[in-house]
Amino acid sequence: MPKKTNSKKTIQYSKDQFIYEGKAKKLYTLKNHKDLLLQEFKDDATAFNALKKGTILNKGVINNNLTAYIFTYLKKHGVPNHYVEKISDNEMIVKKLKIILIEVVVRNIAAGSLLKKTNLKEGQVLKEPIIEFYYKDDALGDPLINDSHALAMKLATVPEMNTLRSMAKKINLLLKPFFLKRGLKLVDFKLEFGRDSKGKVLLGDEITPDTCRLWDKETNEKMDKDRFRFDLGGVNETYAEVKERIII
Ligand code: C5P
Repeated sequence: MPKKTNSKKTIQYSKDQFIYEGKAKKLYTLKNHKDLLLQEFKDDATAFNALKKGTILNKGVINNNLTAYIFTYLKKHGVPNHYVEKISDNEMIVKKLKIILIEVVVRNIAAGSLLKKTNLKEGQVLKEPIIEFYYKDDALGDPLINDSHALAMKLATVPEMNTLRSMAKKINLLLKPFFLKRGLKLVDFKLEFGRDSKGKVLLGDEITPDTCRLWDKETNEKMDKDRFRFDLGGVNETYAEVKERIII
């Protein structure tokens, strides 16, 4: 009888070509794995459509670890996503996706750009989460769009728009208690999605203090990229603290 073994096969990945550099990450193809990519997290930080630039100590390592941890949690709870495995402190293997050019923002508490679009005051708790779509286009400054705009620009189909909305709601329902258990209120966050080789919509990109607003549960202290955006101080320490609180 063949022996059962629990040993996990280790896959060797070898970096091939550099293909893309974003504000916080770089992407590379892999030799012998055409459906996968290597995603490398950088310490670089930008804000206000890259008008403000800087670096955050150890951010690449922190955000790689946080994204690996959170995407593993989401997959375990039925949210299909691009994460495959972490291969170094600041690199992970992800599934290759055709990115949908829509940023999906979910808001639980009024903050940030919502304050300029509505008469809501910072900190006001929203009865129902607000889901927003932004067209991912730096030249246009990532404008707010609705379903009709997305369909007119052929960014996604009607069923895909519904999938983006339902996945965003489900992720919010999973992550609100996840963060609260770790002493953090999930104020708002941004998601990106893409289609895999079979056309299935998967969550992509990252979930980190770069892409979420997180406030301390007791003091409402800002524990995210707003510290960098608005020169609130303690940026490096805050990112390190968020990692300590989340990865338990
Ligand atoms: O600026 P605004 O209030 O619209 O941002 C909402 C949320 O989306 C914040 O958590 C912010 O960090 C995130 N975001 C992002 N990338 C963008 C725009 C917003 O991660 N390009």
